[in-house]
Amino acid sequence: MTARIIDGKQIASDIRSELKQEVISLKQKGIIPGLGVILVGDDPASKSYVTAKERACEEIGLHSDDNRLPKGTSQAELITLIKKMNTDPKINGILVQLPLPKHINESDVLMAIDPVKDVDGFHPVNIGKMIIGEKSFLPCTPHGVIKLLERSGVKTEGAHVVVVGRSNIVGKPVANLLFQKKKNANATVTICHTGTKDLKSFTKQADIIIAAAGRPNTITADMVKDGVVIIDVGVNRIEDSTKKAGFRLVGDVDFEALKEKASLITPVPGGVGPMTITMLLYNTVESAKIANMIRD
Ligand code: NAP
Repeated sequence: MTARIIDGKQIASDIRSELKQEVISLKQKGIIPGLGVILVGDDPASKSYVTAKERACEEIGLHSDDNRLPKGTSQAELITLIKKMNTDPKINGILVQLPLPKHINESDVLMAIDPVKDVDGFHPVNIGKMIIGEKSFLPCTPHGVIKLLERSGVKTEGAHVVVVGRSNIVGKPVANLLFQKKKNANATVTICHTGTKDLKSFTKQADIIIAAAGRPNTITADMVKDGVVIIDVGVNRIEDSTKKAGFRLVGDVDFEALKEKASLITPVPGGVGPMTITMLLYNTVESAKIANMIRD
């Protein structure tokens, strides 16, 4: 079997076009959704993520309030800025780019964000709501995975999903979303991690595999059954002297071998990656609608 490749760029672009239309109609009501972006320090990877997020805001017509703070910014100064954004009606979502410099406590900072503006979906209030199945801001990468499955026509109801990875930002939330008694969920979910004995015995049973281990080749062709659906969240740098940057990006699965065995598979890059920023935009537009009491 040769897999259909899930085109994350196209799905992300479709969702962004829909959001752009929503932003146009919000603007006609005098509402401009706004995202407050905070970057502390000059980590090159963080800088490029933040720039991509700001560009994406511009592309769909969101207002973005960009704050690039020096590396030495104190935790108190950062929290003061967040508190100002919490009460600023022009800001519907607050994004603090992680990781933060070591002298700042990440958890304290994320807790300072008003949950109603927590468009990253990392605040314990939003995580708690997600777990009990209440409407909340969903964390962007897991939400992106759900949208990829939905828009690729993958039925999750009754499927056995194996999630490889249990981080707070990917593995745990994506597993939680998939077992909810809801549309585009209602799956039987197994979560695997480094404590799992015989990973292959679990992945072999999977109808859908979500790979979020952060290690290349965690899933190989001998570990899956024919026709499996594979969503590869991993982003790993592999040395490659033929590339200008000296490296290339690969996911967590052996893509070349698995595309001959799976029914559907996401590439890296171009699979889950483009969905993460898209879902941040989605949450910001949702937040603006909630703040202005606009219902779908
Ligand atoms: P993380 O915090 O390092 O967590 C990795 C998880 O995978 C851990 O739970 C770990 O188990 C488990 N794991 C590692 N090796 C394993 C193995 N050989 N077998 C089974 N489980 C294994 O990483 P993360 O933040 O969740 O990110 C995962 C990957 O997704 C990374 O490559 C990251 O760059 C990528 N990512 C991509 C996006 C995107 O937008 N595309 C967004 C976020 C993350 P233990 O808990 O036992 O250590």
